[in-house]
Amino acid sequence: MLDTMAPYKPGKAVAAPDGRSYKLSSNETPYDPLPSVVEAIAEGARRIHRYPDPGATRLTEAIAARYSVPPEHVALGAGSVTVAQQLFETVGEPGVEVVYAWRSFEAYPLLADLAGVTSVMVPLAGEDHDLDAMAEAVNDRTRLVFVCNPNNPTGTSVRRGPLEAFLDRVPEHVLVVLDEAYIEYVRDDDFPDGLTLYRDRPNVCVLRTFSKAYGLAGLRVGYMIAQEPVVSAVRKTIIPFAVNHLAQVAAIASLEAEDELLDRVERVVKERTRVRESLLGQGWTVPPTEANFVWLRLGGRTLDFAAACAAEGVAVRPFAEEGVRVSIGSPEANDAFLAAAASFAAK
Ligand code: PMP
Repeated sequence: MLDTMAPYKPGKAVAAPDGRSYKLSSNETPYDPLPSVVEAIAEGARRIHRYPDPGATRLTEAIAARYSVPPEHVALGAGSVTVAQQLFETVGEPGVEVVYAWRSFEAYPLLADLAGVTSVMVPLAGEDHDLDAMAEAVNDRTRLVFVCNPNNPTGTSVRRGPLEAFLDRVPEHVLVVLDEAYIEYVRDDDFPDGLTLYRDRPNVCVLRTFSKAYGLAGLRVGYMIAQEPVVSAVRKTIIPFAVNHLAQVAAIASLEAEDELLDRVERVVKERTRVRESLLGQGWTVPPTEANFVWLRLGGRTLDFAAACAAEGVAVRPFAEEGVRVSIGSPEANDAFLAAAASFAAK
């Protein structure tokens, strides 16, 4: 199997000949870490000769308090991608099928391969999840369905009504994973918050992360919220001490500094509007996005577009023959990207 597996390709940085470099390829926050978070990490560093708290009790309780859920409904991992991996592990038997939209988060096929389960990739309808086709793809062998909401890399989202109707169609033996890595950037009033859905639905769980809006991508901490049986199963599959001490203290400090972090999110959302409108003004087709990135479906021009951006020091995320995903960065980085897009459009 390893011979045929493609490794995960992380977003790269690039530099223009004059040294300018803007990394818009990994959906990170453009802001530096908050001083209060850096201080918490410095303080936490005094304890790194000890193993971390294996149950991450304080962080689990802080997340539970923040979202008014019981701590027994929270499972942590070293990034939400590892929690997703743990979910695959819990169902990982030959013959098992996992349904998700495609294109979506690139880790899903990798995790399915690693767990030895079969991926059933349901093509997007335009840029959106095709929930009807996904419901039809579910059968007796299906154990997991991923709904990436908003979807990476298209930024599009599934709304409350259609999602609820979809959940009603999914049988109880199937766990529906709502991957909400970008939820803090959502501004659509009709967006379904998974935390209101999982309470009445034992087969729904929600994945969230400190990597994006909370700015801790480099520390690797994410979590799942679900009912107790799902959480217990997932906790059993965690590698001992996976969430390190610095990640735990930084995540707690980030929750304490949430107002400041959410102010930054607001600024990114404003920039997102500006970037999308500028692109539309340049004549590009850009699907509405609820995440901290935009998607340009460029087909055969994808790699040329990415190369043109790279020449201006702007790293974007190309998916060959499909399109590019461009993170919303600082105003300066966004201007550099918009200038590169404008000159490409003028060619
Ligand atoms: N889900 C989605 C949809 C993502 O885009 C990402 C990050 N690219 C993740 C999960 C994983 O994030 P992390 O492991 O950093 O929490």
